[in-house]
Amino acid sequence: MVLEEIGTALALRDVPKPRPGRGQLLVRVNACAICRTDLHIVDGELPNPKLPLILGHQIVGRVEEVGDAVNQQSPISDQQFAVGDRVGIPWLGWTDGECPYCRSNRENLCDRGRFIGYNIDGGYAEFTVADARYCFPLPDEVVAAFVSNAEPDKQALGTSASTLAQAEAHVAPLLCAGMLGYRSYRKTGEARRLGIYGFGNAAHLIAQIAIYEKKEIFAFTRPGDKIGQESAKKIGAVWAGGSNEMPPEKLDAAIIFAPVGTLVPAALRALAKGGVVVCGGIHMSDIPSFPYVDLWNERVITSVANLTRRDGEEFLKLAPRVPVKTKIETFELDDANAALEKFRRGQLDGTAVLVVSS
Ligand SMILES: [Zn+2]
Ligand SMILES: [Zn+2]
Repeated sequence: MVLEEIGTALALRDVPKPRPGRGQLLVRVNACAICRTDLHIVDGELPNPKLPLILGHQIVGRVEEVGDAVNQQSPISDQQFAVGDRVGIPWLGWTDGECPYCRSNRENLCDRGRFIGYNIDGGYAEFTVADARYCFPLPDEVVAAFVSNAEPDKQALGTSASTLAQAEAHVAPLLCAGMLGYRSYRKTGEARRLGIYGFGNAAHLIAQIAIYEKKEIFAFTRPGDKIGQESAKKIGAVWAGGSNEMPPEKLDAAIIFAPVGTLVPAALRALAKGGVVVCGGIHMSDIPSFPYVDLWNERVITSVANLTRRDGEEFLKLAPRVPVKTKIETFELDDANAALEKFRRGQLDGTAVLVVSS
C-alpha cells in the first residue's frame, strides 16, 4: 500500500520485491500495527517524507533472506540472524553511529537518523528490508507471553505455531506505541503519581507497566469521554477524568500522548513542585502561553523523540513479564485506507493492525 502523494489515499500497487543490501534483512511481514505518526505523515505534518512511500513502523515478520555481512556487524544484542527468525522492526531504522548524539548514547537524536515508514519503506507490504542492527529478535518465548491476548482459553493448550502467529498481531503495537511510550515513561523517573493525558494505545500499554511498578495512574481523557475513563479504571487507574479537570492530588509527573498543545499548561498546573511534563508525541498543535508561576518551583517540560535500541530491548524484557495486554482490531493489508480512516475518526476499538496474508 503506497503513499504516492501527501494527503491522498494509499494505492494498492505491485512493486518489485526488495533485495536485502549489505547488513540488511529481507523480512516477510506478518503484521504491521498502525501508528498515529502514519496519519501525521499522510497529512503532511512531518517534513520531507520519502515519496512514494510504504508506511508502517511496527512490524512483526520472519527473516526471508539474510544480506551480506549481517552477522559480522555488531548488533546491540549479540543475536545472529538466520532465515526463518521472527523479528520486530521499529521506528528507528538507521543512525550514523558517529555524530555527537550517537557517541553519547543518544542515537534517538542522531543528526542523520532515518526512520522506517518515513525515510525508509516500511511494513504496509508483504516484504520489507531493514538494517539488521535495528531489528529486534522476537523469539517464541517473548511472543508466547501475548498468546493469552489473542485467545484467553488457549494459554493452557500451549503455544502451537498457529497460536503464536495469531499472537504476533498483538506484539506489533509494542514496536512503537510500547517502545516510545516506554521512553516517555522512563523520563518520569521515580514519579509515584503519574498523570497520562490522551488515553489511547500508548497510554494503555504504559499504564500497565507503571501499575506493575506500583505507580498510581491518573488518566485524563477528552472531557465527557466516560467510556475512555471507564477503560482506564478497568486496567487499574486510581482516578480518571476529563483533561479539563484537576486530579484530586498533585501529580509527580504527567505524560501527554494526545497531540494537543493546550494540554501542556493544563498538565503543568496539575503538577507538584519539581514535577515533569513529558510530551510523548512526534507532533503537537501550538502550546498556548501560560504564567511563569506555573513553571516555577523547578517544574520541567520535555519531549521524547524516537527511541534508542536500548529502550526497545528494555521494553521487550519488561513487557512479557507484566504481561502487557494489547487491544487490537485487525485489517487486511489492502484495507489499510479503511483502517487509517477509522483511526482518524476515533472509531477503533484498539490498535489497528494490518495482518498480511500471502
Ligand atoms: Zn509510531
Ligand atoms: Zn548519529
